[in-house]
Order: sequence, then structure tokens, then C-alpha cells
Amino acid sequence: MDVAALLFGHSKALYSTWIFYKPDHLLIDCGEGAATSLGNGGFAIERVLLTHGHIDHISGLPSLLWSRAAGMGDTEKPLEIYYPRDDMFVADMQLYLERTATRLPFALRWIPLDAGDTFALTANHQPTGSATGQPKQSGARGGRRVVTFPTRHIRGRLTLGYKVVETRRRLKPEYAGLTQEEISTRARTEGRQSVQSLTEEYEATLVAFSGDTLPVESQVVQGAELLLHEATIVDAGERKHQWHATLDEAVAVASTVRPKALVLYHISGRYRTVDIADATCQSAVRHKIDFPIWCLYRDRLMQFWNGEPGPPASHSTKAEPRTGTRQVETKRRRGRSFQQNADAKSKEKSPKE
Ligand SMILES: [Zn+2]
Ligand SMILES: [Zn+2]
Repeated sequence: MDVAALLFGHSKALYSTWIFYKPDHLLIDCGEGAATSLGNGGFAIERVLLTHGHIDHISGLPSLLWSRAAGMGDTEKPLEIYYPRDDMFVADMQLYLERTATRLPFALRWIPLDAGDTFALTANHQPTGSATGQPKQSGARGGRRVVTFPTRHIRGRLTLGYKVVETRRRLKPEYAGLTQEEISTRARTEGRQSVQSLTEEYEATLVAFSGDTLPVESQVVQGAELLLHEATIVDAGERKHQWHATLDEAVAVASTVRPKALVLYHISGRYRTVDIADATCQSAVRHKIDFPIWCLYRDRLMQFWNGEPGPPASHSTKAEPRTGTRQVETKRRRGRSFQQNADAKSKEKSPKE
């Protein structure tokens, strides 16, 4: 699974988290810097899914709206912002934006959600100035929809994770052994309807985003092909009052879910990249992980574990990638960033989350 082809973003606990999921034009949370980094790419966003109202997840909303209102793009393209119902911090942000952004050229809808809610990912916006003049196909995009699930992050408050799911068909278990040739033969001799009867519908989870939370219940995200789980702290001893997951807890959840790839994010800025890579490899060995593990740390999406069989991590120098692992950094559109340079130089101290 080429994770870098599916998403990019920025994530550093306490400061800012936002992730753009390309296939469905979703922005998961909107921490500061989202609009700055996205530039005119911000016009691609159709929906913002807020996991909760902590400032590192919503502080990018004002500049996202301003840039959509005045940037070089389809300024009439509607935007929907989904959020956990009764989140008072989101309510405060909404109030601020309604007072200050009174003349937005696009329709802005705020949509509260409860745990277990579902909505279709319709693509029903007609871009202004369309070359073809043909309306875009309306209705659910590929039948896909978003399903929310409850997370554990703020005592007594609703916080949400999000899944993108779609209905697919597969062979019923009793026909699972049929070869493609046997199915083709059956279609020819008995008709396509007969082949249809061999199959059943099932719900596939394409991606699941944990949001900020203690480790998610694995059954809630079971079957997710791509799992993004927060991993704020490396050492459980560093957890005080916060309701966040450790890196090892996130990997443990994934070891049960068995996705095609795991992305760890919302990692504290107190760690050096090399220490995160080290901890990832140790957890991967401990939990016998046979799928790739990536980390979205600041603006870098890096693969620290390739999931292929190989000698266990018994390496001496932390700075060198290990046998059985590889460190792949995705290509950045604008080259090496200041943050990357800074990150390479020093271990940053950050205040407590
Ligand atoms: Zn956070
Ligand atoms: Zn939070």
C-alpha cells in the first residue's frame, strides 16, 4: 500500500495536526498551518472532519476559510465541517467565524455528529467554470461513506474517530475455492445472474483515523485496510493525566486489526526522529508486525518498518536504518523544509501536552 499516494499532512502533538486524505477530499482535523501548507490545494477539500475541539486540531480553520474565500480557486465551492456534537471549543470557534467571516462567497455548513453516525460521501458540487458544462455525478462517491466511532480523550465529553467504508462483493465462503476460470465458465454457461448468486456483500473499511485517544478498541476498527492511530508518547511512564496512546499501545492495536499499513501520528515534539524510528522497530518486533508502519511526524511521512521478514532488530547504531526495516521519506513538493533541517540538528524540548 502506497500510503504517501493516499495522504499527507502535519502532525505534532500539542502544536498542530491535520491530514488530507486524497481519495475522498477529506481534511481530518485542521491544526494551524493547514491552509499555509495546502495553498491553492485547500480548494480540493470538500469536508473537514474534526475529531475534537482542542486548539491543535481546529486553529487552522480561520485561515482555511479566508484562503478559500479569496484564493485562486473555486471560491464558491461549498465546505462542510463535521464535529462531535456539543463540543464547546468547536462551538466557540464556530461563533468566532460566524462573527468575523460574514461574507463568505461559499456555503459553509457545520454538521454535528454522534458516535455511530454515518453519512454518504456525495460528490454533488458543480465547479464553477466547468469546461464540459456537464454536472458532476451526484450521489455517493463509489458508494463510500463515513462512519464515526467514539474515542476516549476528554473525560465526560464526546470525541470521535472516523472510518471511510464502502460496500463490496466477494465470493461466499463456500465458493471461495473457485478459480477465475471456473467462474468464467459458469458465467458463460449459466449466465451472469448465476455468478452473482455466488457472491455476497460486505462492508470494507478503507481507512480509519483514531483522533486523539487512549488506544482504540480494536474491534471498532477491525478490518481497516489503512489504520492511522495516535501515538503521543513513547514511554508509558511519561503519561500523566493525558488521555493519549503510547506508540507501543498503537502498534498493539494494529497487531490485532492487521491493516495493510499503520500510520502513527500525533507524536510529541520532545522526541528525535531517530528515537521514534527506534521505538517503532522495537514495538514491531515485540508484536510480530508483518505490515508496514509509517510515521507522520511534523510534515514528514516516513516508513520505519517494512513488515517483511528479516533479522530482528539487534542493531547498535540508532542512526542507521536496520536490516528488516527501511526508512523511506516521501518526496516533498517543495524540497527540504526548514523543519526538516531543524529536526536533523537538534532534539527539541516541548512543554507538556
Ligand atoms: Zn491533539
Ligand atoms: Zn486533544
